[in-house]
Amino acid sequence: MASVAGLVAGALSMAAVEYVSVSSQVDIETADLAREQQELDNMPEEELQELADIYVSRGLDKKLVHEVAVQLTAHNALEAHARDELGINEITQANPLQAALASGAAFLVGGVLPLLVSLFMPLDNMVIYQYVFAILFLVILGTLSALTGGSKVINSIFRITLWGSLAMGVTAYVGSLF
Ligand SMILES: [Zn+2]
Repeated sequence: MASVAGLVAGALSMAAVEYVSVSSQVDIETADLAREQQELDNMPEEELQELADIYVSRGLDKKLVHEVAVQLTAHNALEAHARDELGINEITQANPLQAALASGAAFLVGGVLPLLVSLFMPLDNMVIYQYVFAILFLVILGTLSALTGGSKVINSIFRITLWGSLAMGVTAYVGSLF
């Protein structure tokens, strides 16, 4: 029962946090883009100079930047300012609901594993079974994530098992206190 409760609570809180986080990000980007568009409408000369200065700071030749800034402004002024001034690469924004569902579903998939352990392993020494299997699952997860991302497997396993063990240790300690 504790495992099921943890699974549901964890999946919902992950989804909620992800939704709030992505929504705030979208709000900030929307506000930034609206302000940028207003600046482009109100002071196009200053904005052109601003874009040119940005390219100078990135190492482009001073004689070249004016032409670059003029052409990019003519092509899509807001896109150029979003990318080079605000650092927003894609104006097509993230969908908070989609992010929340992905996060909640990922938690469910991972959280089912300790639930299976609690269902199928003997009740005696359940705490030890949970720890051993949790470490095993973390090793598998670390391997998968390293192989997917193309990074070093051993580093990934070390990082995920170290922090996973620390998190479990602190959780168990706090639990035993109360
Ligand atoms: Zn600008």
